[in-house]
Amino acid sequence: MSRFLAKAPSSLLPYTPGEQPQDKQYIKLNTNESPFPPSPKVLGAISQNECKDLRLYSDPDLKSLSKSLAEYYGLETNQVICSNGSDEVLSLAFFAWGTDCGVAFADITYGFYPVFSQFYGIDVKIVPLKEDFSILPQDYYNCGRMVVIANPNAPTGLLLSVDDIEKIALNNPDNVVVVDEAYIDFGGNSALPLINKYKNILVVRTFSKSRQLAGARLGFAMGDKELIADLNRLKFSFNPYNVNRLTAVAGKAAIEDDEWFNETRLKIIDNRNYTTENLRKLGFDVIESSANFVFAKSNKIDGEKLYLSLKEKGILVRHFGLERIKDYVRITIGDKNQMEALISAIKKILQEGSL
Ligand SMILES: *Cc1c(COP(=O)(O)O)cnc(C)c1O
Repeated sequence: MSRFLAKAPSSLLPYTPGEQPQDKQYIKLNTNESPFPPSPKVLGAISQNECKDLRLYSDPDLKSLSKSLAEYYGLETNQVICSNGSDEVLSLAFFAWGTDCGVAFADITYGFYPVFSQFYGIDVKIVPLKEDFSILPQDYYNCGRMVVIANPNAPTGLLLSVDDIEKIALNNPDNVVVVDEAYIDFGGNSALPLINKYKNILVVRTFSKSRQLAGARLGFAMGDKELIADLNRLKFSFNPYNVNRLTAVAGKAAIEDDEWFNETRLKIIDNRNYTTENLRKLGFDVIESSANFVFAKSNKIDGEKLYLSLKEKGILVRHFGLERIKDYVRITIGDKNQMEALISAIKKILQEGSL
């Protein structure tokens, strides 16, 4: 760090993204990307003309994309805001509603929440998950802070019911409840229907996981129009052209191809079932996942060792050093071939270990 860096940024503990190795070809099951390409309609939409238009700024209101999203989800356009990845809109939410009253989130959840909090100097209340990693809704009642819940949670994959989310919102009438639904398309029930009834619920989504656009960086949030206006106030104070032209066009095409969306997410769900079943046969404890990954621990090999052995065999998974989850690895669900390769590699590793 340079000697010019101010105190607050110099004490920041940045987010650690999963590895994106550029040297050799791995079977990449470590960052919850899709194994499938984007919809063919996305490739068709990014035309020569679109590229020529790159000389112009993008639409700061992202009207066309927001309109498609609003129609798709049955909302008004003023209930939607788009962002440069959902990380961006999450960060705006932390700044908007967390800086005065603080924020509450789980001990085991998306690793960016503590980073945003530190970035903005927000006071954090950590709410430990139960022994089985589930959330006890009552732990969040009347907590006097913004509440942030990843649902399904990461990296556990566990789902909280819409009823429980509703109770959390009801019991925090003076605070915003952010529901980060990055993985909801893989089988969970969304809290989206609640946003017309509760003015304090913000639902955050991404195109990175279920719509194959992680590299395009596109996320969005849906909620009461006043919450969306708050977020727009910040966006226009920070980066009005936050979504680039090509991404806006790609996102619109992806939303309009429901067939591709459903086909690919159903394949992921199938492959998740295959992976869960086969890991359990090998003695793994696999948490019931509603996401495009499974969180699993072996009764024979520790998490870090498994991660390293798989890497040696050309397969990347994610291991987290946190004490409570250090026995586990998080495995992204890929295509069928990739999951078969994973299972057979794990079989070999376990055999080698028992020699
Ligand atoms: C992947 C992920 C995000 C971030 O997604 P981007 O849209 O790629 O920024 C947000 N929240 C959770 C829980 C995630 O797993």
